[in-house]
Amino acid sequence: MTLALVHYGEIALKGGNRPYFESLLERSIKAALPKAKVKREHGKIIIKFTGTEKRVKEAMEKIFGIEWFSFPLKSKSDFKSIKSTALKLKMDKKKTFKVEAKRVDKTLPYTSQELAAKIGEVFFNKKYKVSMEPEQVLYIEADKKESLVFLGKFRGLGGLPAGSAGKVVSLLSGGIDSPVSSWLMMKRGCTPIFVHFHPFGPKDKADFGKIEKLIGKLKEYFPSQLKVYLVPFYPFQLGSLKIPSRFALLSFRRFMLRCAEKIADREKALGIVTGESVGQVASQTLSNMRVVEEGINLPVFRPLVGFDKREIIQLAEKVGTYKISLEKYRDCCISIMDPHPATSAKPENMKQAESSIDMEKLVEKALEGARIIELGRGL
Ligand code: ATP
Ligand code: MG
Repeated sequence: MTLALVHYGEIALKGGNRPYFESLLERSIKAALPKAKVKREHGKIIIKFTGTEKRVKEAMEKIFGIEWFSFPLKSKSDFKSIKSTALKLKMDKKKTFKVEAKRVDKTLPYTSQELAAKIGEVFFNKKYKVSMEPEQVLYIEADKKESLVFLGKFRGLGGLPAGSAGKVVSLLSGGIDSPVSSWLMMKRGCTPIFVHFHPFGPKDKADFGKIEKLIGKLKEYFPSQLKVYLVPFYPFQLGSLKIPSRFALLSFRRFMLRCAEKIADREKALGIVTGESVGQVASQTLSNMRVVEEGINLPVFRPLVGFDKREIIQLAEKVGTYKISLEKYRDCCISIMDPHPATSAKPENMKQAESSIDMEKLVEKALEGARIIELGRGL
């Protein structure tokens, strides 16, 4: 069996909640590596696994809450054992090195510095080149009974463990931005309940392949099932014909948030997430965001609010959703596009524009036609 060592950052700061956060992180790791043995120890998690390091590395790189991880060798804590373990790690002689040691148990008969210096000397005498800005680092975590010795650390995603922050309703289009905004909330421990408005009528053959693929990608970062509400757009489309076309898109956004709020109530979610960023398109000016949000009693989170498109694309590539987002899909908004949409709507404009419709009713109708699916295992 091979070992992996996992360290978490922020969780350590969570005081009394710490065991809860740790157990959620443990759950994420177990879900990603069902055959491995996962054990929580003070301030770290030790995994025993069979199979390749590559597979474990790929899994670790998709778990929120991990600060860094490594593949250590176990050793007894006396100097001689640590030395022979360190020599087993194939340090590259052509690269410069340094040793970083941490004495976890303070009763050990050496200080962290003494241990680092002594092990460093072993390699120095074998003609390895020391540097304070080394190309490789040999780490030692010395504890009472046994120590861990490893070469290099892999950076994790950071963030907080999945499920640690409660639920949010996440508005997911087939675009580039909204999968990234959902991912950023997931990174902070939120469980997303996805809501997607689709253009298919009751008699259409609906194809949600792209949406399922996007959520499937996000699922790689989440240890349990993900729920998706597929809500039809046509009740709004039919009911909103009297709205002046300049305001139709804004009204649709208001409709989406209202539906999201109802779903949040049902799901006990505490916020709504969108992929908007200031000024990205006409409907995303500050004043339009304000009128869209008016009357909504939940916080609307926009994790991308300060991001440029280029930055969003970079993140989408990192997450793995970018290519999927580029695939063709029938978008609802196209049918309500106007060549000159309102860019600085005021609350009274929207009131006037929507005076001929019964928004509550449209929301009700749309939600009656909603389909709920759970995407989980097998994705
Ligand atoms: P995206 O790339 O996420 O589609 P966008 O830049 O195309 O964003 P808009 O189409 O103006 O922007 O949408 C803004 C936000 O509204 C989206 O990020 C998403 O959160 C939400 N949204 C838009 N269309 C839909 C839809 N059909 N279903 C669910 N949410 C949607
Ligand atoms: Mg869009």
